[in-house]
Amino acid sequence: MSSETSSVSRETALPAPTSTRVMVVVNQKGGVGKTTTAVNISAALAQGGLRVLLIDMDPQGNASTAVGVDHRPGVRGTYEVLIDGDAMDWHVVRSPEAPTLDVLPATIDLAGAEIELVAVPGRERRLLDSLDAYLATHPYDYVVIDCPPSLGLLTLNALVAAKEILLPIQCEYYALEGVSQLTRTIDLVKGNLNDGLRVSTVILTMFDGRTRLSSQVSEEVRRHFPTQTLTTTIPRSVRLSEAPSYGQTVVTYSPGSPGATAYVDAAREIARRGSGEH
Ligand code: ADP
Ligand code: MG
Repeated sequence: MSSETSSVSRETALPAPTSTRVMVVVNQKGGVGKTTTAVNISAALAQGGLRVLLIDMDPQGNASTAVGVDHRPGVRGTYEVLIDGDAMDWHVVRSPEAPTLDVLPATIDLAGAEIELVAVPGRERRLLDSLDAYLATHPYDYVVIDCPPSLGLLTLNALVAAKEILLPIQCEYYALEGVSQLTRTIDLVKGNLNDGLRVSTVILTMFDGRTRLSSQVSEEVRRHFPTQTLTTTIPRSVRLSEAPSYGQTVVTYSPGSPGATAYVDAAREIARRGSGEH
């Protein structure tokens, strides 16, 4: 553990995994809470004293924004790593959100990578190769990858680089619609490119306890993913949607808000499950 983590009190310290957990936040549906989950889980894990690398794989760069990292056009990051073969080391920056939270930012340039990658040798393993090389000299407890809302080459690179899938499901109509398509994609990736990939964690987002619908979706998802679904559900909370406009996660923007406490609880569940501690 680095000295930076010694400021974390015993009560908030989270257990570290025995080896780096690489988790990809994926769901090809837009607006289900991928980015919100990726940044807040990352920040909560880092606040718990763990070393976290957040990789922004979405050309929108919303994850970069949310952790206060510059992603104006021209800023180098994921695009240069994937297309130019730049070392991750050159472009990873520290987030102001937590002393142990690092970020590989994405800019709108990454939109072109989806097409440019087609012509690049080993196009599905660009992220994996770069991440492996980086992790060999830069130890992290968690790598969290935020994906765009599609199953193109950017998401494929993330699925190949990761060991675990963190699947956010919005408590809305048709919540499980698309999950079967995603499952087929995961099976394809498993069969051909990444044997060990699995859906380790499902997180229910935008839960509204006042509606029957949210409870029904929650029950359905828990039936489908009985061991993977976190006990903690993320409520609808306006603070969660406000935080990014201040370049912050809700964990620092409004620590006592329901959204922040939910993500802190979810991060604790993830950390405990991953350390073999329950
Ligand atoms: P995705 O990355 O899957 O497209 P986002 O995380 O960007 O989804 O969320 C979509 C929108 O919903 C954003 O405006 C975000 O701020 C908002 N949002 C996400 N989760 C919540 C929540 N639990 N409560 C309220 N708003 C939320
Ligand atoms: Mg997003």
